[in-house]
Amino acid sequence: MSDSKIGNLKLSYKESNNLHLILNPTEKCNFRCTYCYENFDIGKMTFNVVNGVKNYISKQAPLLDHLNITWFGGEPTLAVDIIKNISEHVIRETSKFQHCKYSADMNTNGFLLYKDVFLELLSLGIRGFQISLDGDEQNHNITRVQANGHGSYSQILDNLANIASLSKEDYQFEIILRIHAHPNNISGIETLLYHLSTLIKGDDRFFLFYKEVGHLGSLNDEYFPVFMGDHNYYETFIKLCKSLGLQSIGNDKMPYCYASNPNSFVIRPNGSIAKCTVGFDDFGNHVGSLSENGELNIQKNKFQPWLHGMIANIDEFKYCPKEYVNSLPNSSQL
Ligand code: SF4
Repeated sequence: MSDSKIGNLKLSYKESNNLHLILNPTEKCNFRCTYCYENFDIGKMTFNVVNGVKNYISKQAPLLDHLNITWFGGEPTLAVDIIKNISEHVIRETSKFQHCKYSADMNTNGFLLYKDVFLELLSLGIRGFQISLDGDEQNHNITRVQANGHGSYSQILDNLANIASLSKEDYQFEIILRIHAHPNNISGIETLLYHLSTLIKGDDRFFLFYKEVGHLGSLNDEYFPVFMGDHNYYETFIKLCKSLGLQSIGNDKMPYCYASNPNSFVIRPNGSIAKCTVGFDDFGNHVGSLSENGELNIQKNKFQPWLHGMIANIDEFKYCPKEYVNSLPNSSQL
């Protein structure tokens, strides 16, 4: 199916003039988090795919009310040159059409988010950032390990301190600190929150989000203990944030997963199109490819199951369409 026919799949989805692209400028990473499910096989986005993304955006911009780009990976800050190349094109193309709003955000481990890099990303219209922390320095450095085996806590916290020092009047952004919890780091989360309160207390550009680590397909899943719904630390976390002057986002405010949105695509560095950012190599997650002239070639039989939650109005599958795709008897041969 070509992109011109994707309209047939929009059905009742209410934001049909919005496009959400998740771009992986590289799938290499400078971290080796102990629970990570990615395999880092694919490096930087190729020249042909960069051209494909730019051509696709040029074709779509006149039709859109809103283009949102999420930079993902791998670790996107390892490929700032590609982010700059594509973002400058996006800004040029979307600015030709008053109705086409552009916004961008990034999932990063925060290690290379030095102040000058952060300012460059802001200048490219990237205003939202999500950075994960795994407890206090001791806990964090056990699971958020650099590829060279060293810890990462102090560098990330230094970067956050430098970013927080930017004046609120001149620099608007939103940083979500995703606080990962598992049975072995709960005691360190309290220490982390105290540390964060010294840096960002009362700064309304920062939000904390509590997230329990799950088993998502890492080779270490068998050895990594996770919560099984057998505790209630979330409420304690929210109260502690409040008492320390830290803003938190409640789990009850989570939107449906982007993968159930017919207008959301992941574009990988080799031009492969996926729907979900977990299990890139799952057969059912490879739904098409992007050509250099900017054509999305989507396989309808593999794309359609991702929309099942929206079409059949089933909340469970709106929140995680991968669960539906995986439940299909022939999910490995869609
Ligand atoms: S489909 Fe499920 S696993 Fe994939 S990104 Fe959405 S919630 Fe996560």
